[in-house]
Amino acid sequence: MPPRTAVFFHAHPDDEALLTAGTMAMLAAEGHRVVLVVATAGERGLAEMEPGEALGETRLRELYESAALLGCARVECLGYGDSGLSPKGGIAEERPDNAFIDADTEAAAKALAAILQEEEADLLAIYDPAGGYGHPDHVQVHRVGKRAARLAGTEIVLEATVNRDPLLRLLRLAGRFYRFPPEFDVRTFESAYSPGETITHRVNVRKYARQKRASMAAHASQASGGDSDRTLAVMLKVPRPLYRFVFGTEWYVRRDLPPGTRLTHPFEMMSGK
Ligand SMILES: [Zn+2]
Repeated sequence: MPPRTAVFFHAHPDDEALLTAGTMAMLAAEGHRVVLVVATAGERGLAEMEPGEALGETRLRELYESAALLGCARVECLGYGDSGLSPKGGIAEERPDNAFIDADTEAAAKALAAILQEEEADLLAIYDPAGGYGHPDHVQVHRVGKRAARLAGTEIVLEATVNRDPLLRLLRLAGRFYRFPPEFDVRTFESAYSPGETITHRVNVRKYARQKRASMAAHASQASGGDSDRTLAVMLKVPRPLYRFVFGTEWYVRRDLPPGTRLTHPFEMMSGK
């Protein structure tokens, strides 16, 4: 396969670790160019540090470390404000002026499209329309990413997701033997991510589990937050069977293929160029 270029677009530093780190490490190891773009510095993430500029700087440093571990050739931050989450998980009422969810979709898409064009990207990875577990910034990544790919003429758009069916089975099983943190509610996963039948790509990333784990660990500020209910913190505390689940496969939906298509590599079914 000739070397190709894949751009992974994420909302906050640490999102790449959980959803796409194995695929990124795999593509880089295969000789492809892997570019990581985040919309925000994640300065309102829940951590032991106070939210703000210093936290944003720490998180960007963690992002560069993670990207280096995964073999990324380039890292960019679009510089939008982290919109944060309300205590109930919805849209936060108090937001920075330049919050990503308040951004003009077209302007944000143009900024991302400029990178896609500069890179002559063959592939852009974004999130599913639900934004995974529903963080408003993640929903915005879907909108902006979709539009940017159209503006730049990027051939393949993959929506990073999680196969919800085995995840729910595992979480329910794990709940019988393991006490989840009180803020962790299995039911929230019933409408999160994607059902198995819509998933087109199951990428085996077991060989890259070490890099994926290292990428997660690089985001120390998020894993150590005192009362953090962030997915990453929860995932680092989960029991073994879930670890295997998280580190074994990464899932994507490619909407221009019929549902039920089952592919194993991001660049499969690409027109030659
Ligand atoms: Zn995020």
